[in-house]
Parts: sequence; C-alpha cells; structure tokens
Amino acid sequence: MGDWLYAQRMVRFTVLASGSKGNCAVVTGGRTRILVDAGLSCREICRRMRLAGEEPATLNAIVVTHEHSDHVGGLAVTARNLGIPVYFTEGTHRAWMRWLTPRRQMTYAQWLDECRKQAAERQAEAATIAEESDPDDPEAEPAPAGQPGPERQADSSGRPPSRREDPTWLPAVEYFQAGQPFAIGDIAVSPFTIPHDAADPVGFVFKAEGVRMAFATDLGYIPPNVKAQLNGVDLLLLESNHDLEMLRDGPYPWPVKQRVLSRVGHLSNEAAAQFLEHGYDGQAAYVILAHLSESNNLPELARVTAERALSGRASLLANRLLLAAQHEPLPPIYF
Ligand SMILES: [Zn+2]
Ligand SMILES: [Zn+2]
Repeated sequence: MGDWLYAQRMVRFTVLASGSKGNCAVVTGGRTRILVDAGLSCREICRRMRLAGEEPATLNAIVVTHEHSDHVGGLAVTARNLGIPVYFTEGTHRAWMRWLTPRRQMTYAQWLDECRKQAAERQAEAATIAEESDPDDPEAEPAPAGQPGPERQADSSGRPPSRREDPTWLPAVEYFQAGQPFAIGDIAVSPFTIPHDAADPVGFVFKAEGVRMAFATDLGYIPPNVKAQLNGVDLLLLESNHDLEMLRDGPYPWPVKQRVLSRVGHLSNEAAAQFLEHGYDGQAAYVILAHLSESNNLPELARVTAERALSGRASLLANRLLLAAQHEPLPPIYF
C-alpha cells in the first residue's frame, strides 16, 4: 500500500500495446489515471496494466483518438466493467456508434461504403438539417450528424436505451473538441487534429505536474499544427509505421498500400525521421516510436532510421529512444 501511495504522486506513462492489432496506453498524473484508447480486450488491458504495475480499478477515464477498431475494440466492455466515462469528439463517438450498430460484422471497406451512402443521403436532405457539425478534416469520410437512427435515440436524454440491448451503451460520455484543452482530474489534456482517414481523429498532449507528454499515431503526415504540438514536450510518442520500401514490395494489395501511403494514412519511418531531424526541438527526455507495422516494418529499421535522425542531438538527458510493441507493454516511464 505504501508503494502505491508513493506511486500515486508520480507522473507516469505506460504503453500497453501499439500497432494495428491494438493500441492502449496509461497516463498517470497526481491522483488521476487515464487510459488512452482501448484497442485490446478488457481482460488483456487489465492483464497488461497489472504486468506494468498499474491497477485497472484506479482508472478514472478513457480518452479516444479515433474510431478505428485497433483503438476501440475493447472500449465498451472496459468502460462498463470499470464504470468510467469515455471522452470522445462528437464525430468519433457517432462514428463509433455507427460501427457498432446495426451490423457489427461490417468490413472496413463496407463501412466506408456505408458512410459514403449516408453522406450522399445527407447531402440530399441538407436543407432540412440545421445542426450538422463540420469535422475540421475535409478528407473525413463519415460526416457524423443529421441522420435518424439508433444514435439519435442514444443521444436524446429522454429515453436512454437499456444497456443490455444497446451495444453502444457507456457509463458516461464526455465530448471534447480538437483545439480545446480540458482537464480530467489532475491531468490537462490538449487534443489536436491529425490527418487520418477517420471521422474526427486527434492526437493529445497530456500535462501533469509540469510534465508534457505528446501522443501522435495514425497520421498521414505532420502538418504545422501537429508539429507545434510535438515540440516543447518531455515525452514524445510518435508513429513510425512502415518502411517505404518494405511497404512498396510487401504483401498488401495496391489499394491498401495507397491508403497507408496517403496523406490520411500512416507515418513512415522516413517521415518520422524527417520530423525528428528537421522539425523537432530535440528536448524530449524520451522518444517512443509507435504503431509499427508487423508486415511492413522491422523494429531495427525503425530504430536505426530514428537514431540516425537524432544523432546530431546526442545527449545523456534527452531523446532516449524506445520502441512500443504490439504484444507486450513497455516498462512504465517515470518522471
Ligand atoms: Zn491505428
Ligand atoms: Zn487509424
């Protein structure tokens, strides 16, 4: 118990999983613990938290970057079992609900198709819909609002559906907007828009006890607004998804390769290195490479590419390079 009380006063960052099979991390500051994404099963999240010395029952909230299944696969069960609120953007929440209802078994391509159809229908009805909110990413496919259906019922406070029949039921939902910082207990959270093919995807800067931790994966490139967020931080978690040559020569079908390479896909080792060499202030104590592809990357390639980019900034105190893994948690980083 003494250890636990001592640990309570620390700022801590723990990656539980990172990659296309599931993403999840824990940010601890003061008396507050936040789960960032829930892309593993609840059971696996709890198992890995305990492996990393964290107690799942002490989590205060879950924040969600975007609705892709590798980020939300265990979301509902985890939030329900722990009885904690989930923080989304409204666009992400709606896209997540659409993903869960009415048919769970949609492939991603079918889901995109469905979104396009719904967008076309909405355009036809646009004149009668006043409250449509505009996601700030013009590339975003699944514009979320304006359509009658299960999500409307879930939203109206008058008649919440019972939790048994509604797969989208959560103990509590809180909305945030990119560009508008908010607080969860002792942790300040600054969400920022990232370019990715989801409804309203975000990265985060978490700040606790003066420590700033930036979190950016699932982005096609690094636009100026993101670059600004990734500087002046003590910990930088950055996507290093694929090696360009491995992706080009690899097993993915061409349309998938195009998607990964696009401006709303994923960040390559080369693009991450380009940022580390030319766009980054070199101030973070830790740089964590994340969301490495198991098909189109090798940890050593990602590491060497980033090391080369950081080599001009050798320092005992800054830029300790770590690689987040898919199948096991990283040891917690303490500040
Ligand atoms: Zn992802
Ligand atoms: Zn994604």
